[in-house]
Amino acid sequence: MQSNYDVAIIGYGPTGATLANLLGQYGLSVVVFDREADIYKLPRAVHFDDEVMRIFQSAGITEQLLKTVRINPGMRFVDSSGNLLMDWPRPPEMSSQGWNTSYRFHQPDLETILRKSIFSLPNVDTYCSHSVLSVSTHSDHATLQVEDIIGEQLVSTNADFVIGCDGARSTVRALIDDPMQDFGFREKWLVVDVILTRPRPDLGDHSIQHCDAERSATYVRGPGDRRRWEIALKEWDMALDLSDAGTIWQLLSAWISPDDAELERNAVYEFRSRVAKTWSSGRLFLAGDAAHQMPPFMGQGMCAGIRDAANLAWKLAACIKHGADPQLLESYASERRPHAEQYVQMSMRLGGLINASKTQEALAAAFPQDDGTTRLESIAPPLGPGIGFDGDEHSGRLSKQLLLSRDTKMDDLLGLSPGLIIDSSELTPDIPSFDGTIIDANTESSARQYLAELNVIAVLVRPDRYIFSVAANSIELADLITRWNKTVSITNNT
Ligand SMILES: Cc1cc2nc3c(=O)[nH]c(=O)nc-3n(C[C@H](O)[C@H](O)[C@H](O)COP(=O)(O)OP(=O)(O)OC[C@H]3O[C@@H](n4cnc5c(N)ncnc54)[C@H](O)[C@@H]3O)c2cc1C
Repeated sequence: MQSNYDVAIIGYGPTGATLANLLGQYGLSVVVFDREADIYKLPRAVHFDDEVMRIFQSAGITEQLLKTVRINPGMRFVDSSGNLLMDWPRPPEMSSQGWNTSYRFHQPDLETILRKSIFSLPNVDTYCSHSVLSVSTHSDHATLQVEDIIGEQLVSTNADFVIGCDGARSTVRALIDDPMQDFGFREKWLVVDVILTRPRPDLGDHSIQHCDAERSATYVRGPGDRRRWEIALKEWDMALDLSDAGTIWQLLSAWISPDDAELERNAVYEFRSRVAKTWSSGRLFLAGDAAHQMPPFMGQGMCAGIRDAANLAWKLAACIKHGADPQLLESYASERRPHAEQYVQMSMRLGGLINASKTQEALAAAFPQDDGTTRLESIAPPLGPGIGFDGDEHSGRLSKQLLLSRDTKMDDLLGLSPGLIIDSSELTPDIPSFDGTIIDANTESSARQYLAELNVIAVLVRPDRYIFSVAANSIELADLITRWNKTVSITNNT
């Protein structure tokens, strides 16, 4: 183990592993600690979305990941008699993000692929079976005291920044001394994964939300033969032995029996809805479940953590490698916290609906559309106030992933650099130079079309694919590039 790293990450779950991958690609020296010997085995995430797939594209893992995932056709809400209350279809076409809108997956598969991607990064050291006991911060570094669980010894190392990707019971959050803001959702659910031993096509490919005040439940069609049920537990269920196979089969009996499948794994969780009030303090940062927890009804808890990693990675790289003003790091919390909170709130609303006794009325009240129908649509909120916000409606929104000539996806061209979508003839000598990738509308028709859609002459895309800002004319263009260069501390302004 080195004595000094640029960044220490506590927690090698999906958030920590994604962050380690991105920071490693930026060339930073990174150490990752996890107290567990191996990947977490209990049933957790089964869904991620197109934006998150786009981040996995930056992490360079989509080729392997696509072999393990399933495209999700959507979610249906049914009442206790099985009548359809509401449909949430997920269009089969590629979205503006350049990927399908919704994927089903097995979390250990993703974590295995992420970890493999890190093996090839010589500047990232990973230590499993290592528990971080304490972190002390000093004016120019932080020191971590770590227990090597197998070697039974204490080790210590220093890092410029420490990121707590250490889950719901975060050690780093306790150090920041942050009481989380609790939005009040608190329910116990049994989660069971089974592996089919004979075909059950009648179960269907859609996720089903069984909206039933007596016994609400979620069915998920996983990849391959894996199927998931999540079942709300009542107070009286706590007297049952919920780890007993007989009890579990009894609770699943409305849908499936031991003749159809084998139990793979099961766990009882208490779903919470909480967001840390303070996401960073000096050299310490929180990301993933350490910063936010939400009920899983939208399948967005892990997704929010992956977005945290993408937001934080390029900012850390800009500060550590290019000497950007550390103020840039303050925008991590201001941008990410309100964004994550939107998903927490929406997940709670869904949870409330699934549990409601008058579900039809509850659905109509919660998701009314202008045309009088009830429809649920995916949300894509903008970031909270941060860098680049210039009063324009596009700053802080996700950029489109353009399909460029020879079927190249835009992000494959950008890599981890920022992008400027522009007709290159606008880049006259009086415009400051841009240190990133130019997507030239002069040669790329999708770029020209995108500029026309937004009614601008230039779009500056940050490395995390959010729009920094746009320019409607050459004066704004000079200002746009100057502001970006200042943000990331590039001084060669002409
Ligand atoms: C039933 C269920 C269904 C879900 N479904 C979805 C879904 O469909 N889609 C979705 O996006 N999300 C879903 N989620 C949420 C998702 O699983 C979590 O948000 C995600 O796993 C959190 O990842 P993380 O890396 O932030 O934290 P974790 O995966 O919890 O990792 C934290 C790591 O930190 C380590 N650690 C903690 N303290 C220390 C220490 N002091 N020293 C060293 N190591 C430490 C732990 O060992 C752990 O490995 C679901 C969750 C549940 C429970």
